[in-house]
Amino acid sequence: MSLTVVGSVAFDALETPFGKRDRVLGGAATHFGLSASFFTQVNAVGVVGGDFGDEEWAVFKRHAINTDDIEIVADGKTFFWQGRYDYDMNTAHTLDTQLNVFETFDPKLSDNSKKAEFLFLANILPMLQKGVREQMPDTKFVAMDTMNFWISSMKDAVVETIKVVDCIIINDAEARQLTEEPSIHRAAKKIMEMGPKAVVIKRGEYGATLFTKDGYFVVPAYPLESVFDPTGAGDTFAGGFMGYLASQGAVDDEVLRRTMVYGSVMASFNVEKFGTERVDALEYNEINERFKAFKTMTHFDDIPFERAVTA
Ligand code: AMP
Repeated sequence: MSLTVVGSVAFDALETPFGKRDRVLGGAATHFGLSASFFTQVNAVGVVGGDFGDEEWAVFKRHAINTDDIEIVADGKTFFWQGRYDYDMNTAHTLDTQLNVFETFDPKLSDNSKKAEFLFLANILPMLQKGVREQMPDTKFVAMDTMNFWISSMKDAVVETIKVVDCIIINDAEARQLTEEPSIHRAAKKIMEMGPKAVVIKRGEYGATLFTKDGYFVVPAYPLESVFDPTGAGDTFAGGFMGYLASQGAVDDEVLRRTMVYGSVMASFNVEKFGTERVDALEYNEINERFKAFKTMTHFDDIPFERAVTA
């Protein structure tokens, strides 16, 4: 089954304690699309400027991502984001955001993109997310992301969008900010009361948690010794999650648990190099190997709990 993603396509300038890049391919739709492309056919919807070159298009092409709905504004510049990470790689410090052609982005979906059974609304203006969702009323499963900026500046609009999706994939700080609840369990419950059947709360290097009406499932992050650049890890997680889900068709608790593992597997690759470098060059056998490692890592034998201390 196919999957449509709407979101930013960008040039990023990145700085981590381990290196620096002045201009790499980035954007939420890019990281998401690359990751999902290992599992299903992806349509990307976005906008770029005339500065978006052959090298960048080649990345989408290598992964057979349909770019027909990435609009080109020839006399404009592509969205630019500059970020820095200190040793706490869970927190990005935004140094510069130049919206450029993204400022007037008005997603127009072709019939092909509209036909997709799965839809991911990456982090864009909540009203635009809702507009896209309305263009695809018959979609089987819709998930969304958002960010602290929208929650603080237009929370009502964020909630209106949450009401019309099946799943939301956000980080723990965003969940707390949205619901004004310190407990992520309560926060997830409150979000589900708004409409979604599933809530995924990402916690950076500590993994991610899935909440559904009847279930709770935690997946760790892969224990990497060196994290090089976490930019796009959240979108890469969402790409693995939605891509695998779309490849399965059925959405039930068991499939959702596996989607969580694939999300974590894909995110673990993304952080090993700058920008899209690692996922762009990824091989299927590497995904399978890491999936197996996750199975081993999270496998609990049925060891009964025994009293360690006796009176
Ligand atoms: P993540 O690290 O998964 O949250 O996503 C990082 C990507 O989001 C980067 O490649 C940026 O280009 C992109 N990005 C950063 N700020 C924004 C924004 N305000 N709107 C849309 N995309 C953004």
